[in-house]
Amino acid sequence: MSQAIFHPSLYDRNTYHPSYWAAHTDLPSVGPLPGDTEVEVAIIGGGYTGLSCALHLQRDHGIASLVLEAGAIGWGASGRNAGFNTLPACKLSALEVFQRWPESEARAFFASQREGQALVYELAEQEGFDLHACGAGIYQVAHSRGALADLEEEGHWLRKAGIPCERLSREAFAEVGHAGPDQFGALYMHEGGGINPLALTAGLAQAARRHGAQLYSHSPMQHWHKQAGWHVLHTPHGRVRARQVVLATNGYRDSQEPPSLAQRVLPAISNILVSAPLSEAQWQAIGLSTLSPMSDTRMLVTYYRRLPDNRLLLGARSDTWGDPRLDARLQQLLLHLLAKKFPEAGAIPIDYFWRGLVSLTRKRVPSWGRVPDDPSVLFNLGCFGSGVNSMPWLGRTLARALAGYPLNAREDCAVYRELPGRLPRSPWLQRSGLQLAYLHYGLQDRLA
Ligand SMILES: Cc1cc2nc3c(=O)[nH]c(=O)nc-3n(C[C@H](O)[C@H](O)[C@H](O)COP(=O)(O)OP(=O)(O)OC[C@H]3O[C@@H](n4cnc5c(N)ncnc54)[C@H](O)[C@@H]3O)c2cc1C
Repeated sequence: MSQAIFHPSLYDRNTYHPSYWAAHTDLPSVGPLPGDTEVEVAIIGGGYTGLSCALHLQRDHGIASLVLEAGAIGWGASGRNAGFNTLPACKLSALEVFQRWPESEARAFFASQREGQALVYELAEQEGFDLHACGAGIYQVAHSRGALADLEEEGHWLRKAGIPCERLSREAFAEVGHAGPDQFGALYMHEGGGINPLALTAGLAQAARRHGAQLYSHSPMQHWHKQAGWHVLHTPHGRVRARQVVLATNGYRDSQEPPSLAQRVLPAISNILVSAPLSEAQWQAIGLSTLSPMSDTRMLVTYYRRLPDNRLLLGARSDTWGDPRLDARLQQLLLHLLAKKFPEAGAIPIDYFWRGLVSLTRKRVPSWGRVPDDPSVLFNLGCFGSGVNSMPWLGRTLARALAGYPLNAREDCAVYRELPGRLPRSPWLQRSGLQLAYLHYGLQDRLA
């Protein structure tokens, strides 16, 4: 059993997140599992991973699949993120990836990340849904001179790995991005861009269902045991018997999981605010003539983008508990970050504020595989706030592995293979570790 480590409100599946996306996106109507049933593959978690896995199992391999989601579809991170279709999903620099793994494996990892970024657009095209895609490429904005030098090196290794990108001077970035005291130039990655993340979730759900997958919302897996070679998953109104199980719960790990996966993921809270639509005069003061998303180079990253309806979205790490009574204070913190980036912007009215869990690991890159003590259970975990490109792709990879399809070098890449190291069992120690890491990274950001 994994435990919820934050305030219970972060795990309340009865309440949908009050996000800008939820207010602007139609979701398919999906009900709870009504009784007992049997299926080849049961998937726990109705986000990008689970839905993409179900879609690919049904569509590409003709394998029957069923998704159990504890909340509504898109309740987790997949419905409430910032919609950056960016890469790579890791907290290591590109150089560190090349140092830690053989060059061929490092290259395969970056190629898979690029393939994942493209897969998002391909799926929307193939399955006929609208991502509300905007912007051309992604910017990483240097928050200091030293950070710009690091970006130069990052760009070198990313290009070596086949990711098209270029370094922009402070003046060149100010043309499309913004000026101000918090930018010293940027790395422009030519591919990817902004999407509506909940539209991707809804599109995957509709496509999976059209191809025959069964989807059930408000159906938490409450208990899981094995009987005569079958997995039996208990939900409030019915049980699922399945030959194979996919655990696609990512940062929302507050229920039973195989012992070998326990304490491998450290969730962290990230907060987002979205402004009211801003006037042209305010946009002139802010900058951002592009709709491409951007994030700064801090370890405690701030990410931001101009939305197509002229609102500003900005997000950053939160506190380490998540009590909603602190919402006003945390909103103020985000407004403070905003004022630091855009000192000329003046008062910015806020329409939406919400939070969600990203998933971190000690390994600092995502993992997928078969559970060591039961190969009929597959999992993925840990994408460091970069799941738009990586989780639909990992969902497809899980589907191929389940179907016994021969995996290519990117899918079979060693970078994804090993499990991350264990964390302390105690939620208090996990939160304390996170606090210490935030102090350490905050200092590092100031010195960089
Ligand atoms: C605030 C925020 C901003 C982010 N911004 C970006 C971004 O701009 N770009 C980007 O690439 N990534 C971003 N991410 C990360 C990205 O959203 C995630 O990596 C991705 O959505 C994970 O997808 P998933 O399907 O693996 O997990 P999730 O979407 O989190 O889905 C897991 C689901 O499992 C369900 N679940 C858990 N236990 C059970 C159970 N026992 N029974 C049934 N269901 C269960 C949960 O309810 C949850 O809905 C952000 C994340 C957050 C929180």
